[in-house]
Amino acid sequence: MALTGLKIQKYLPKTNCKECGSNTCMAFAMKLAAKKAELSLCPYASDEAKKILGAASEPPVKGIALGSDPKLKLGEETVFYRHEKTFVNQTALAININDTDFDDDIEKTLNSVKDYILERVGEILLIDMVSVTQKGDDPEVFAAVAKRAWETTNRPLVLHSDDPKALNAAAIAVKGSNSLLAAARKETSEALKTTAVENGHALAVTGESLDELVAVTTQLKQEGFNNLVLQFKTYSLAEQFQTNSIARRSALKANFKPLGYPTLSFISPGGLLEDTVSAISEINKYGGICVLPTFDPAQLVALMTLRMNIYTDPQKPIQVEPKIYPVGDPGPNSPVFVTTNFSLTFFIISGEIENSGLSAWLVVPECEGMSVLTSWAAGKFSGTSIAKFVKESGLEQQVKTREIIIPGYVAQISGELEESLPGWKAIVGPQESADLESFINSVMS
Ligand code: SF4
Repeated sequence: MALTGLKIQKYLPKTNCKECGSNTCMAFAMKLAAKKAELSLCPYASDEAKKILGAASEPPVKGIALGSDPKLKLGEETVFYRHEKTFVNQTALAININDTDFDDDIEKTLNSVKDYILERVGEILLIDMVSVTQKGDDPEVFAAVAKRAWETTNRPLVLHSDDPKALNAAAIAVKGSNSLLAAARKETSEALKTTAVENGHALAVTGESLDELVAVTTQLKQEGFNNLVLQFKTYSLAEQFQTNSIARRSALKANFKPLGYPTLSFISPGGLLEDTVSAISEINKYGGICVLPTFDPAQLVALMTLRMNIYTDPQKPIQVEPKIYPVGDPGPNSPVFVTTNFSLTFFIISGEIENSGLSAWLVVPECEGMSVLTSWAAGKFSGTSIAKFVKESGLEQQVKTREIIIPGYVAQISGELEESLPGWKAIVGPQESADLESFINSVMS
């Protein structure tokens, strides 16, 4: 049962030193009780407190790590909605191959997974996992395909079979990959637990009903094996959505440990649109690993973009380093633009300048990752702060021009900027980035 703030406070030092970021030990205890802080923030917690409160402050959805370098993390979630705090570990996307697929098709899919790279707002996005499904009846063939998938892609695998012997053979073949065996039922859980432990893999658990699944996870946890993932047996998108929500709610609201694990779902092939909708549902509502039936780069762009939006911490906007960026191949006579260090704004503006064929300098001062209007309203993107940044950056020694193009939405800072940056003229650019190219072509050519 979850500890209350009052009970947690009894185990804290009660010195109110504030080093954990809370004003009092009681305030910190309340945060711990609400799973909004971790005990490690208090440097003075005793060993006894760590032992007792460590379990109590564990995230309601257990963290699982797959693969080796870098580790693929799942779970550790503490909220229903990302605006309450943040979602922690994003839904992992896997591509499925079958052990009965043609050799050329397997080769093509594995190479596609290995080579797939999507760059979005400065982040490199990759496919997380490969799923190998046994459709044939030879465990050795299944194991050989699994080994090939690991060796080609270096990704952790979902080993998917109803046959414990096949899972055992594949688990041995890819020992060291830290993969996931899917899935154990009540009749096979003991044997598969041994296979998972001996070969360093995690284990997915399934059952005809939620009660049956809960019985298996409870049993395995009591036996000390906690490296688990849940695979629900559902028959429609609505049921899967509902079951994912029930599991998350049980883990968060009732601290119900048997359902406090990341989930695994296989999207049944039903056409590209239907598959995409199912995957979107998993990303939106608590999916841990989502296995896609085919590799489709266009579908992946949509899913990864959505996933990035859902899993970006709303309290920490994605941002680029504040500095002077060259766009194209600028020289001392190239024009100078200024914008904020919110990643989305930066990449849109630099992209528009690049598309126009112009080489320019882009001044990006520290704005805490906020967009133009937000940072201006917060006093982070003012004439004074831009001028200070320009002076400190050494731009004045780097360029001959004394004109700086500011975003149209903050035309009102032009006077302040010219006063704070003597000798410079502020040119008001367009409000919308989409108009930047025509602005450049008409005003600067
Ligand atoms: Fe109390 Fe520890 Fe926080 Fe200090 S750091 S206020 S001792 S909980």
